[in-house]
Amino acid sequence: MLNFCVGPVMSSEEVLKVGGEQVPYFRTPEFSKVMLENEKMVREFAKADEDSRVVFLTGSGTAAMEAAVINTLCEEDKAIVVNGGSFGDRFEKLLKIHKIPHDAIRLEAGHPLTAEDLAPFEGKGYTAFLVNVDETSTGVLYDMEMISDFTKRNGIFLIADAVSAFLTDPFEMKKWNVGVMLTGSQKALACAPGVSLLVLSKEAQERIERIDCGCMYLNLKDALKNGERGQTPFTPAVGTLLQIHARLKSIEAKGGVDAELEHADQMAKYFRSKLAGFPFEIFSQSPANGVTSLRMTNGQSAYDVFTILKDEYGIWVCPNGGELRDKVFRVGHMGDLHEKDYDILMNALNDLTKRGFWKEG
Ligand SMILES: *Cc1c(COP(=O)(O)O)cnc(C)c1O
Repeated sequence: MLNFCVGPVMSSEEVLKVGGEQVPYFRTPEFSKVMLENEKMVREFAKADEDSRVVFLTGSGTAAMEAAVINTLCEEDKAIVVNGGSFGDRFEKLLKIHKIPHDAIRLEAGHPLTAEDLAPFEGKGYTAFLVNVDETSTGVLYDMEMISDFTKRNGIFLIADAVSAFLTDPFEMKKWNVGVMLTGSQKALACAPGVSLLVLSKEAQERIERIDCGCMYLNLKDALKNGERGQTPFTPAVGTLLQIHARLKSIEAKGGVDAELEHADQMAKYFRSKLAGFPFEIFSQSPANGVTSLRMTNGQSAYDVFTILKDEYGIWVCPNGGELRDKVFRVGHMGDLHEKDYDILMNALNDLTKRGFWKEG
């Protein structure tokens, strides 16, 4: 299988090996040590402050999104949420379900957030800002420098969903004054699904202390308390956490987060340099390194491209759902992917040309 989906993604041999082992009991000093090392490496790779904390939840990325909303926001907040696709929409739904007062900035699919979009929200007493750094559904990378300037200027608490941006595009938790950063195990971390994590600034920790989240499983007060000794309140996805440890260690050994970012950047550039002559074009007007979204230009169904590559070539590109199902498909740059893998994909796409698969526009 050759997988260019945006999660789960291709794991390295060493991560796969950990996945094939027996899962150990976890209330031990050995496992605590693994967890404390995980915390330290994530904090470093997110370029976070020394006094920030990392908690690991058992649940996919959405669990961390919901935990961020219920533990760090309350009814006295007034939030801005960027909704430029299905993950922005998920944040908006969470704010609604949990009755956090909010206004949404709804963007056309594939479009970035601009200074003009932010201007009407200046000096209006907003207290929180939620954004998906890379809106993975369309591969749009938002301008975090601009967002961070805005939130700093307005004294706004910033929640950044970096599920597909962490380890693919630069992330500067401290410099950007981010309150909460969150990600999941099956995207650029390239492990099995099941774990999500949150990096919590001092301000986030203070909010968590003050706010009653009204939930037992996603209670971050408990998670922080247990985390002090490298433990979790309940049985975590131990196997996935051990994979994460192997993966983080390997990033560290290979030159740290910057080398990892450089690789994602190179893979995205390599793939994007080969797209001439096909009936699709890059859809995102501000492409993230994690994924390239491709819009069909000949009216042919994007979903059919996904299907034929899967069924006849054993290659998985990533289809889109909803309105974009027939218009857009995606090719990921997360996980254990190299130039030779993109060459295999290009060979398959060229073979489709030879076979007369592409329709005239
Ligand atoms: C994948 C993803 C999530 C989380 O999705 P899960 O299916 O719950 O893991 C959240 N935000 C973004 C931007 C994502 O790409």
